[in-house]
Amino acid sequence: LASLLKDPSLLETRAYVNGAWIDGDDGTFAVDNPARGDTIADVADLSRAQVADAIAAAEKAQKEWAKWTGKERAGVLRKWFDLMMEHQDDLATILTAEQGKPLAEAKGEIAYGASFIEFFAEEAKRIYGETIPGHQRDKRIMVMKQPIGVVGSITPWNFPNAMITRKAGPALAAGCSFVARPAAETPLSAIVLGVLAERAGIPAGVLNIVPSSSASEVGKEMCENPAVRKITFTGSTEVGRILLRQAADQVMKCSMELGGNAPFIVFDDADLDAAVEGAIMCKFRNNGQTCVCANRIYVQAGVYDAFAQKLKDRVSKMKVGDGLEAGTDLGPLINSEAIDKVREHIADAKSKGAEIILGDESGSNDGNFIAPTIVTGATRDMSFSTEETFGPLAPLFKFETEDDVIALANDTIFGLASYFYAKDLSRVYKVAEALEYGIVGVNTGIISTEVAPFGGVKQSGLGREGSHHGIEEFLEMKYVCMSV
Ligand code: ADP
Repeated sequence: LASLLKDPSLLETRAYVNGAWIDGDDGTFAVDNPARGDTIADVADLSRAQVADAIAAAEKAQKEWAKWTGKERAGVLRKWFDLMMEHQDDLATILTAEQGKPLAEAKGEIAYGASFIEFFAEEAKRIYGETIPGHQRDKRIMVMKQPIGVVGSITPWNFPNAMITRKAGPALAAGCSFVARPAAETPLSAIVLGVLAERAGIPAGVLNIVPSSSASEVGKEMCENPAVRKITFTGSTEVGRILLRQAADQVMKCSMELGGNAPFIVFDDADLDAAVEGAIMCKFRNNGQTCVCANRIYVQAGVYDAFAQKLKDRVSKMKVGDGLEAGTDLGPLINSEAIDKVREHIADAKSKGAEIILGDESGSNDGNFIAPTIVTGATRDMSFSTEETFGPLAPLFKFETEDDVIALANDTIFGLASYFYAKDLSRVYKVAEALEYGIVGVNTGIISTEVAPFGGVKQSGLGREGSHHGIEEFLEMKYVCMSV
């Protein structure tokens, strides 16, 4: 892997704690390339005690960091952003090697991830407080915003760069310090952020990267250590519940970006070609491994057959392969369990009467690769109606009326992203308002941007990431009541 990089020193395998590069007391763990299966690196495996050390360093560093002016913090954060963009190609190569997504998508993720650092560097200067007219003649009320303190972060493998920057950007801008435990599948993309943070001049201890193969031990340390004042997590609803329970003992602030089961609705009056393009971007980005990927595609009866045919024509042209090879549209899935889950959802649908109109029905696995699959005749009793597939399976449900599809779309414990294609203006308003989701894409399949508040309702999470709202997650409000 190092030989593919313009700057091989970006391939760091040690942990970054208190401004120092350290080995793990628990040895190392292997990072595999999901396309080829070979081990690309052995990464420092930190013990729980070492994570506690990182938290202690972060606690000390935060006190100084919070004294920096917004403009001073903005300066080093901007430099961090510039370095990410300067090394975009290398960061993308590292990301594809450990995560699998096609290189072009990986480059896109680096730019997207970096954009949060750029955006929140700017926001660092705009953490405004408030004055409120006093409730008595001699009273003055001032509201100040202060950093929460030490933030513990746990992130998944599907966006190894952006899931960290979305949290670290606003946290550091607000004056918090940060201890990041990346997913064990994709630690290299996290560690390199530490390399660049050091080069950018972010002070020792403000950003710590603590790879560890034992997620639950790190999770416990972050929740039980009194120095940590906030947990920010992206991952499954299941693990989110565990962390919320653990965090309850210290009444810790929590931001949770959890699972989704996104509906993608195509109405009769939709621009069908645009809907097909949107469905492809939404369903097959990162090979279906995003929490905002369309999981259930609802198509109105009048356009159902035409949509299915058009989607099939387009998807059948997509090339599956190693993300590092040119021309690859769909990379491998992250591991064999991910493949098994997609296969289970396909088999379940087939056994309940769905028809597979595109895909490999053999059921045999070729490494971590699986052909993109489209099924028609999807119904509510099939697994994907309630569970996230997290893979390249597009189930097409047929519906008759607007009210029917709104009820179907909302019939889930999740409420992260939703999408629909329609032209009628009153329908657009009505459906956008009726969908019980934190995010609604109307006539678009791509909704992610650093300037908007990303997050879910229901069991998809707590809090928002991105936009000026995102920084509030890392700030406490304090009011000062003064008698004059
Ligand atoms: P995904 O399916 O996206 O991997 P998970 O919720 O399983 O979602 O994992 C998200 C992150 O949470 C990963 O980094 C994983 O290692 C970590 N994790 C898993 N279990 C726990 C736990 N009990 N406590 C803290 N972190 C955990």
